[in-house]
Amino acid sequence: MLEDTRTVDAILLDKTGTVTSGKLAVGHTLALNGHSPADVLSLAGAVEAASEHPIAHAIAAAAKSAMPDAGPLLAVKDFSSAPGGGVRGMVALNGAGNGTERTVVAGRTGWLELNGIFPDDAQRRALATEEAGGATAIWVAVDGEPAGIVSLRDTVKPGSAAAIAKLKELGIRPLLLTGDNAAVAAQVATAVGISPEDVFAGVLPEGKVDAVRMLQAQGSTVAMAGDGVNDAAALAQADLGIAMGSGTDVAIEASDLTVMGSDLGQLVQAIELSRKTLATIKTNLFWAFFYNAIGIPVAALVCSTR
Ligand code: ADP
Ligand code: MG
Repeated sequence: MLEDTRTVDAILLDKTGTVTSGKLAVGHTLALNGHSPADVLSLAGAVEAASEHPIAHAIAAAAKSAMPDAGPLLAVKDFSSAPGGGVRGMVALNGAGNGTERTVVAGRTGWLELNGIFPDDAQRRALATEEAGGATAIWVAVDGEPAGIVSLRDTVKPGSAAAIAKLKELGIRPLLLTGDNAAVAAQVATAVGISPEDVFAGVLPEGKVDAVRMLQAQGSTVAMAGDGVNDAAALAQADLGIAMGSGTDVAIEASDLTVMGSDLGQLVQAIELSRKTLATIKTNLFWAFFYNAIGIPVAALVCSTR
């Protein structure tokens, strides 16, 4: 494993939470089909409150702070979620008569389609416009119809660009890997100095493993850095899996190495340190063998002259 840190020549960096802060902020909510932005946000927030995803945290927090009289989020039952897809649940409406519920589905286009919901062309264009502006745009569907789009923004961590420059100096090719849309991924890549052809966007969790395998098949020794539940399989497949300390337990268990904290600079330090440690081990082994090699004949000589 330590040996791998020396030969690693490519590193796949998960975008959200690794290169970016992962602390998203909800920008605006676009309402569709006669819904109001406030309804869309409160319904989405109710379901997202049951999810661990950074997108979910942001939407639930925004919904909570927008609740009338600072009340709690609406109650949810039959919650389910798909990693890299989205969430689904039944939301009970406050103040409405008993049994008034809405089925809410929130997530990416593929997740809506899996739930039998197909946004029309105008709605898809609205989503594309949000994404082109650099937002992570999330569909919210209510009772089987698209009801709105929540736009979120993330920020690149302050140390990411410098850390990526250092990786390149160490002869390691940085690549960006994300389930998020291509427009956001391209903006982040530009901001940190990753070339556009080294960006994999819109990747499903299974696709993250395939990205590692593809690079390995091209002859690279691949490191992968991530923090999410859906990064675990790719971390395990990589020659060197690196979990960010702030990450989920699953990611930490699947990795070879855990970096304390969440800064990419610490990841670079870990790689540099393990390369140095390896050099020290090799030097020590050399001297051990060297002393043995000369020590034994000398000892034999000393014995035989007595
Ligand atoms: P990343 O590679 O950035 O960690 P994921 O694979 O976790 O991304 O998610 C990919 C996409 O799936 C997100 O950009 C989003 O569109 C959708 N998604 C995942 N989880 C959720 C969720 N809890 N709510 C809404 N959308 C989600
Ligand atoms: Mg992630």
